[in-house]
Amino acid sequence: MNLQKKIVLSFLIMVLTPCTVICTIGLLAMRIGLHGFRTGEGETLAILTQPVAAVTRLTHMEYNELNTAASVYPDRFENGKWLEEVNSGLSEKYSYLVVEKEGEDIFVGNGKSFGIVKEAVLGAITSRGAAFDGAIYVNGKNPVFVKLGSVNYPDEKEGFFLIITEASVLYNRLYNSFMVGVILACLLIGLIAVSLIAWINASIIRPLEELRVATRRIGEGNLNFKVNREKNDEIGQLCNDFEEMRVHLKTQIDQKEQYEQDVREMISNVSHDLKTPLTAIKGYAEGMLDGVADTEERRNKYLKTIMVKATDMTLLVDELSFYAKLDNNKLPYNFEKVNAVSYFGDCVEEYAVELEMKDFTVKFLSEIDPETMVVVDCEQMRRVMNNLIGNAVKYRNEEVHGEIGVKLTDSGDSVRISVTDNGIGISKEAQPHIFERFYRADKSRTSGRAGTGIGLAIVDKIVKEHKGRVFVKSEQGKGTTISFTVKKGAMKTNGS
Ligand code: ADP
Repeated sequence: MNLQKKIVLSFLIMVLTPCTVICTIGLLAMRIGLHGFRTGEGETLAILTQPVAAVTRLTHMEYNELNTAASVYPDRFENGKWLEEVNSGLSEKYSYLVVEKEGEDIFVGNGKSFGIVKEAVLGAITSRGAAFDGAIYVNGKNPVFVKLGSVNYPDEKEGFFLIITEASVLYNRLYNSFMVGVILACLLIGLIAVSLIAWINASIIRPLEELRVATRRIGEGNLNFKVNREKNDEIGQLCNDFEEMRVHLKTQIDQKEQYEQDVREMISNVSHDLKTPLTAIKGYAEGMLDGVADTEERRNKYLKTIMVKATDMTLLVDELSFYAKLDNNKLPYNFEKVNAVSYFGDCVEEYAVELEMKDFTVKFLSEIDPETMVVVDCEQMRRVMNNLIGNAVKYRNEEVHGEIGVKLTDSGDSVRISVTDNGIGISKEAQPHIFERFYRADKSRTSGRAGTGIGLAIVDKIVKEHKGRVFVKSEQGKGTTISFTVKKGAMKTNGS
């Protein structure tokens, strides 16, 4: 349930509950009234709406029966058993019977009560004649309603009967019921209020408090916590968004820290890789100045070494500046459609002589349709091949004769180019990381191979710009295959 619905529901409960409770108490009280005050004539009078009529007519039926009995069977008014029966019926209606004959009490249904009101009742009824059916408010402290009927006994003597209804008992019962109702209502309203407060607290106040604490933590730079929220209301969504923001911020900060760490490592690697050839250059230059290179042959050898070392350094610096451009997306791409077999065949051809000089066997194998066209930026793709073949050379296994194979295979809408070597291989743990920038599997640099850790990051970036993918398959000590895909262009047609 969302927050809006919860608030509407809470308001409805708060407004409707008291109304319902009041109505229930009213109905309950009326029920009590209705229940107790059936007049016996198919008529029901409610004590709440017609209090006097209800009370005076409460014993209407008994009064009529007694009147009938007085005229038809007056002897019954001397029959104690019958009078007892009538009285017990009346007692259910908070009333009792009094029968008099010639000023003498024949029967008194409730002696204690009648003793209190007797004088006032007898005084009040003397002026009322032989019969009376109505309310007589007899006494301020013990109000009673009185019904009077005359009796002519078979022995010609006169008497009367009274039905006395004790209003105070009746009102007390009503009052008690009402008080019970009010207490129950208060308890119910209290219970509902507590439940609503707990509900609102659980769904709004507590999560807001959690968010406040979370915001403070983020402000303090602490992102190592979790904002939990399972519910799907507005606050739940806010918590989810907050959690997403925290994860995003943490990822960014972690990446930044990793990047800074990588850059530090790379600077230390590069400075080391520059220092080695620089020391060599300096040594050879000093040797020449000091006259150690005293023959033409020696001088040439020294100069060649200086040249090779300077070229190594240039390549390193080139790679760095190229990556900077690539990373800033400052490199324009000129895609063109070329024949895959001839383009990659030429690439391998270019390196063949140099590689053979370094004692490598190079093989080029194509398993694709010779007419297949691919869409590439020729210059950048050459750099990809250069880095892959360069790594195959750099990470050679000195114990075996070096072999490098370049193979083209069909891969649906792409051509897959695989560069395989029989070099030192890459460990399983390192494989997922080799395309990350500045990553070097041989962190301790024990192998003595120079590098920046950006050669394969460049490959990855260029291949992705070609909408292709890179893959690695390697076994330590056996060799490595690094492959990538490039999209095919439309087949070359005759004359195009
Ligand atoms: P580097 O400048 O260190 O060569 P690269 O990005 O080209 O950087 O390669 C990343 C790492 O992957 C290298 O440090 C090396 O450990 C590993 N690697 C790449 N190519 C090969 C390969 N053909 N054989 C063995 N290891 C390789």
